[in-house]
Amino acid sequence: MGNKECEYVDRSVKDNGCGCEDADNSGNGCDYNEYPDTSLLDNPDKPEFMASPNFIEEFERYAYSLGIKSIGYTLMAPELMIKDKFIQYTNAIVLTREMDEKIIETSPGAGAKRLNDLFYKKFGEITYKISDYLRQNGFATEVAHPFEGVVNYSLLAQHANLGYIGKSNLLITPELGPRLKISAIFVSITNLPVKEDNEYSWIPDYCDKCSKCIRSCPENAFIERTCSGGKETEFIQRLCIGCSQGCTYCIKGCPFDQKGYDTIKNRFDKMNARLKEKKETKMMLTG
Ligand code: SF4
Ligand code: SF4
Repeated sequence: MGNKECEYVDRSVKDNGCGCEDADNSGNGCDYNEYPDTSLLDNPDKPEFMASPNFIEEFERYAYSLGIKSIGYTLMAPELMIKDKFIQYTNAIVLTREMDEKIIETSPGAGAKRLNDLFYKKFGEITYKISDYLRQNGFATEVAHPFEGVVNYSLLAQHANLGYIGKSNLLITPELGPRLKISAIFVSITNLPVKEDNEYSWIPDYCDKCSKCIRSCPENAFIERTCSGGKETEFIQRLCIGCSQGCTYCIKGCPFDQKGYDTIKNRFDKMNARLKEKKETKMMLTG
């Protein structure tokens, strides 16, 4: 990273939420839509800070009933912010929702953008509804709309141990691969059941041998360089038409989307076992 040739450009602003800084209406990046706050309830005057395990269970059941696919919990950290914004409650509930098949199947253009925008609208409304449920039960909340570029959603979800960020810079989860979007609710609950370990940290090792997302990109928004014996990928946000035209080729091209998480994990484990066996045999033969 020190030398010029290997210089790593921050690609952290592309994620499964919008998380896009580029609002320049240049045709690439995201031209911002208005997604209003659809909360029906105000925050309680004296919010609660502790939630019982029973409440968390009920809360999760409610969120799943609205179409949320996975839920994680984490503490906010400065590196997760994209914009300088004050967040009152640093306890984060992270939500994922599966992208509609239609968005994936529609070629980039006005139609795909419309479907993508509608998805954000619907997911935003669901997130406000879940936030209302928390408010109704005495907790204070602040919603991070899935389209809102305040937080790096993929990184936030990785911190919440919902999955891991792949070379496409998208979060990959066991439930949905990269076919998802993310929203969050900052909440007054201080005893959220935060999971400590991330069991998906092997994903970048698989990505090192894949690069299909890079080859799938029609805009050449990724540059891959060999650097100090390894590969580094640079993402050029302004070239990406994910928001402006609803492009999803890097999702569709990903083996986690095509084959599913379990198949890829099995394949990866078998490959590593074979490599280990080879190495051990070689060591035995060479004494
Ligand atoms: S494939 Fe589409 S969405 Fe993915 S990086 Fe390239 S332009 Fe962006
Ligand atoms: S397409 Fe391959 S390299 Fe890209 S995120 Fe998916 S597994 Fe990783």
